Amino acid sequence: MDLSLVIPVYNEEESIQELTDWIVRVCSARIISFEIIFVDDGSSDSSWETIESNAEKNQMVKGIRFRRNYGKAAALHTGFSKATGEVVITMDSDLQDSPDEIPELLKMIRKDGYDLVSGWKKKRYDPFVKRITSKFYNRTARWSSGIELHDFNCGLKAYRLEVVKSIEIFGEMHRYIPMLAKEAGFRKIGEMVVEHRARKYGVTKYGLDRFIKGYLDLLTIGFISRFGKSPMHLFGSLGTMMFLIGFIMASYLGVRKLVFVSHHLRAPLVTNSPFFFIALTVMIIGSFLFLTGFLGELINRNSSERNSYLIKDKVNI
Ligand code: UDP
Ligand code: MG
Repeated sequence: MDLSLVIPVYNEEESIQELTDWIVRVCSARIISFEIIFVDDGSSDSSWETIESNAEKNQMVKGIRFRRNYGKAAALHTGFSKATGEVVITMDSDLQDSPDEIPELLKMIRKDGYDLVSGWKKKRYDPFVKRITSKFYNRTARWSSGIELHDFNCGLKAYRLEVVKSIEIFGEMHRYIPMLAKEAGFRKIGEMVVEHRARKYGVTKYGLDRFIKGYLDLLTIGFISRFGKSPMHLFGSLGTMMFLIGFIMASYLGVRKLVFVSHHLRAPLVTNSPFFFIALTVMIIGSFLFLTGFLGELINRNSSERNSYLIKDKVNI
């Protein structure tokens, strides 16, 4: 099969029929063999019934339905696990992404050798707040990951099958799939300007909290990719540094006291100096950080994934 389309659906009953027909039209015209995998993320409207009736008519339409709403990342992950096409394309089910982009995306993966191609909604039809925050996020994401993309969170993306089978997304991490792909060793990441359309039916499924969650997930990804395999490298060095700073302060107070005493002078009480309390606090925090590092290492030892590596090629094995 050439192509698997993975489409997360959450209460998009008005759009699904139109979207399905459009995709079938585009793919049939180009003789692309394809499957559409709808993942119904716990919709409470008639989205699932529409998917079912399409699946009855057309073998290429497939669907999975969650019992409740788990989020877009969960839906994508489940769709990815079922995908079998040589190329996997994700798109939103609200008709904001255009199926007309499919042939070009397919070409970029198959002919131009990209591992991942992200859509770039150069001209966006989103509310002002979202456009501004999105600019800020994309800039931060570019800076922290070194991946030159303008639109990390574009719902329209194409992947080589191996890429989606190699990454694991959860939480709200669908926003940072390019980072996860790069982290997994897929280097050829490109982008393509795509048409973005105003939402035709229904409403957006996200509120303002998406910005906070997105930001926290960015930190998590940065942390995991740098220190995930060896948390002690971060916590150990921070802990040691803090403990040493505290220790030097405390030693200074101790030595000063001894000097006073040895000269038979009236020494000020060690506890009168603010340094004493600062030293104490810093040493305690340092020890905790160190222990956190140890705990992280212990958890890693027990992880079933501690020795899972992605293999690219084999010879004589
Ligand atoms: N979506 C989902 N689960 C959710 C939220 C959204 O599957 O919990 C789907 C939704 O149906 C749509 C896509 O993710 O196909 C993008 O959502 P939306 O259009 O609301 O986001 P926006 O375009 O406002 O960024
Ligand atoms: Mg949308």
